[in-house]
Amino acid sequence: MSVETLKWTSLPYTETQIADEAARLHSQLSIIGWSPVECSLIAPLTWEINKLKREMNAVILAHSYQTPDIIYGIADHVGDSLGLSQVAATTDADVVVFCGVKFMAETAKILSPEKTVLLPDDRAGCSLAASITAEDVRELKRQYPGVPVVCYVNTYAEVKAECDACCTSANALAVVNDMEGDRVIFLPDTLMAQNLRPHTDKEIIAWNGTCVVHENFGSAELEAFRGQYPDAKVLAHTECVPEVVAQADMAGSTSGMERYIAEHEEAKTFMLVTECGMTDKLKVQFPDRDFIGTCVLCPFMKKIELRNVLTAMKNPDSSQVIELDRQVINGARRSLDRMLQVGRAERVK
Ligand code: SF4
Repeated sequence: MSVETLKWTSLPYTETQIADEAARLHSQLSIIGWSPVECSLIAPLTWEINKLKREMNAVILAHSYQTPDIIYGIADHVGDSLGLSQVAATTDADVVVFCGVKFMAETAKILSPEKTVLLPDDRAGCSLAASITAEDVRELKRQYPGVPVVCYVNTYAEVKAECDACCTSANALAVVNDMEGDRVIFLPDTLMAQNLRPHTDKEIIAWNGTCVVHENFGSAELEAFRGQYPDAKVLAHTECVPEVVAQADMAGSTSGMERYIAEHEEAKTFMLVTECGMTDKLKVQFPDRDFIGTCVLCPFMKKIELRNVLTAMKNPDSSQVIELDRQVINGARRSLDRMLQVGRAERVK
């Protein structure tokens, strides 16, 4: 037996399988400039992850801010927090691998506590989620007795367990309006609270968290862009400052952006004011449109890579397995159920 034959027989795949996998990847990733060689380099990893997925009866959920190798190489479902939490609540897989950040993986565990939920890198946090603790919420409730508390989904499970309802950027307005009384505590995103205020009769008492990605965008950049591309549509996330949201043609969640593009066939150029991973995803999804993205990466989302996905599936260590206290699960579940009942998406612009 030659050395070359020995090398291939020691691997879990054949050359033909990897060539087919590389061709599959290239059929999608070439749209955003990936070469056949780049696709060949990741093909052994995506092939092995996809094989493990079938063997383990696992489902891979990926947020839209993940990198294209994850979105097009291994993910079964790609979307925003609301869409992925709805999938997590209904999937019949035994294992959920979350390619996103920790609060999202926790949400999957809360909705499906009997499943094994894996987060490939526990450093995948979030500046909004880190801005508030469960004790902070208890203190707010002491300060404003009887005022309902709505938490953005970008919070940890212990915080959700202290709140009356959860929301995502897709349905924040609907959830706030669904609360009893004329005042609502909204946490932790102070900018989203500012963006909601003009669209509701409720008085919103806000926490002071911000997203390290979206707080960076300013109206000066948008004005310069408008001057250069007068016919382009500007789509902004509601985690941006109100001055940016005011100048945008549409403001809402990432799934709202996708819907807007699909509904506006006449528009050919879009500027996306959100995390830059979204741009590649939309370029593949809408190859006949032009997208101008921003270069701001979420350092937490980018902790997830094919290699740590494979490690988590093959031999997870305790930091990669989401475990939550039963009481926390029950409290957070109540808050998520209220959100899922309201469900619908409502744009603020
Ligand atoms: S983009 Fe912002 S809100 Fe989303 S995970 Fe990163 S830090 Fe958190």
